[in-house]
Parts: sequence; C-alpha cells; structure tokens
Amino acid sequence: MPNIFKAMVPYAVYKKFSDIPFDELLKDGKTCMLLDYDNTLGPDRTWEPTDFSREIIENLKSKGFDICLVSNAKSERSSNIASLLGIPCVTCAHKPATDGVLRALDLMKAGKDRAVMIGDQIFTDVMAGNRAGVCSILVEQYEKKEIWYVKIKRPFEKLVRKIGGF
Ligand SMILES: [Mg+2]
Repeated sequence: MPNIFKAMVPYAVYKKFSDIPFDELLKDGKTCMLLDYDNTLGPDRTWEPTDFSREIIENLKSKGFDICLVSNAKSERSSNIASLLGIPCVTCAHKPATDGVLRALDLMKAGKDRAVMIGDQIFTDVMAGNRAGVCSILVEQYEKKEIWYVKIKRPFEKLVRKIGGF
C-alpha cells in the first residue's frame, strides 16, 4: 500500500464519539486524547460547546485522560470552546500537516505512544495523526450540515473508505 494511502487509514472507525471504547484505550496506555471539535464533538463552526461535548469531556476527565483540542479553526473560536470545556487547545493546527499535533503533544508533555487523535475527517484529522506517528480514530460526522469546503471532500472520503475497506 502506498504511504500516502496508509496515512489515510485510521486505527479504528466509530459511528459516534460516545461509541469509542475509552476504557480499552486506557488499558492500552493511551492516556492523552487529542480531539478535533468541529463536527466531531459539536456542529461545524459554532462558538459554544454542546451538552454532548460537555458530557464527553467531563467523562474523559473523570477517567483521568489528558485532553487537548487540536483545531484547524482560527484561534478565537476554538480557544473559546476549549476554555468553556476547561481544556487546553492548539489552534490553527494545519491538519493534515503534523505541526498542530506535535504542538499538542508538546503542550501535554505526552509521547506519541500514549496519544490518540480523534476526528471526523480523513484528510485532516486521520492524516495529521498518522503522519505524526499517533494512533488515529475516525468518527462519523456529528451532523450532516457543514461548510462547503468540507462537504466537497466527503465523496472522496467515501471512496477512500471503500478502497481501504473501513
Ligand atoms: Mg472536524
């Protein structure tokens, strides 16, 4: 399999964020969760965390995870959401480039082996995680509504998932 395609294949795929087996991840030593926000934990391009995201983050905190948002969004909006959730955030992460993920690892003082990057997009979240050497998990979109430049990538994601069998 060519390397570029390998970078698109997540470690696992789940329909909903809440389906992720976090206890198993903990047992595997994955203690640092690097999370996309837009259309992963809440609707695309919003300024306030959803109740769903608040519950998820509280649950992860109670299990003892270190958590950091890793967002391609401009600093003001993603920082606002992160601060309302009480977690740190790396903004302008440039996913699928690796610099945002690496900045997050640095911020969390976490080795690659204990981190997981979780998000709703193959061409940003999964690729950034894989290319940074971090385990990546793909979750399906929080909702169908999203900005056009994300929407146009979905048919290509479908094709990649079909070819990759995931
Ligand atoms: Mg997203």
